[in-house]
Amino acid sequence: MKRACVIGWPVEHSRSPLIHRYWLKQYGIDGAYEKEAVPPGEAEAFLRALAERDYVGANVTLPHKLAALQAADVADEAAYAIGAANAVWLDSAGKLNATNTDAAGFMANLNEQAPQWNASRQPALVIGAGGAARAILYALLEAGAAKVLLTNRTSERASALADYFGPMSVTPNWVEVVDWKNRSLAVGECGLIVNATSLGMTGEKPLELDLARLREDAVVADIVYAPLVTPLLAAVRDRGRATVDGLGMLLHQAVPGFERWFSVRPEVTPELRSHVAASLGSA
Ligand code: NAP
Repeated sequence: MKRACVIGWPVEHSRSPLIHRYWLKQYGIDGAYEKEAVPPGEAEAFLRALAERDYVGANVTLPHKLAALQAADVADEAAYAIGAANAVWLDSAGKLNATNTDAAGFMANLNEQAPQWNASRQPALVIGAGGAARAILYALLEAGAAKVLLTNRTSERASALADYFGPMSVTPNWVEVVDWKNRSLAVGECGLIVNATSLGMTGEKPLELDLARLREDAVVADIVYAPLVTPLLAAVRDRGRATVDGLGMLLHQAVPGFERWFSVRPEVTPELRSHVAASLGSA
């Protein structure tokens, strides 16, 4: 029997077991998926001893994504570029491999929920400069977006991210920092707007964004998935504009890990979505 797990601190809130156990059952695989609470500072040692713990791989959540990259013998381009890993597996030689599936998960979800979106609908506005924003910038860059406006409460973090991705882009201004207080002004310029902050999450304040300038063809994505319909998405829907919720990203980012560990590429189906949405209090 193959076993995988998710490591985090805390890890109790993780929806990954719900997703992977659903797939194990659906595909009739003799496998298991566990939660492992690993304290800060102990992730590298935990991941280096995966085989001894009888695991073939793991998902990695906060605060261990950097440690996972550091622990890996081999990391792919996405993990290096994003500077963090969220899935690891042991290869046939026993080497620890790492990847970051957040970028691919974000893009797969965007393409599924808003197929009308394309990289040439410019520019995009990314709100936030944390780990998730980093993955989204990478995803947009990979998708060929020509310009991204980036805004964050702490402007130094936005500038650092823009500097980091700038050299990878077509022009040095590919990622342009917008002052946090001017974020609503930037809305009117953009065909795609992404909330990559934790604002709007259950228990957090909503993201304040004036939608008066929102373009008719704009797509607004929120990567927060609890609640499924954030205050931002509700306001965008009230205006009749297209929205993309964060649950699909969560489901799609899980696909590559499961495929590595259990040798089946699982599907993100409406049934899986309902199954996980039910745990968020909204089906
Ligand atoms: P993170 O690295 O801690 O970054 C948090 C971001 O939110 C930063 O940009 C931070 O701004 C901003 N922020 C927090 N509180 C704020 C406030 N009161 N006012 C303004 N900005 C605030 O977290 P992360 O890993 O990027 O995750 C961000 C969110 O995305 C979380 O809710 C997470 O659950 C969600 N997420 C979803 C998926 C998915 O699959 N759907 C995947 C990854 C993450 P400062 O820099 O100024 O602090």
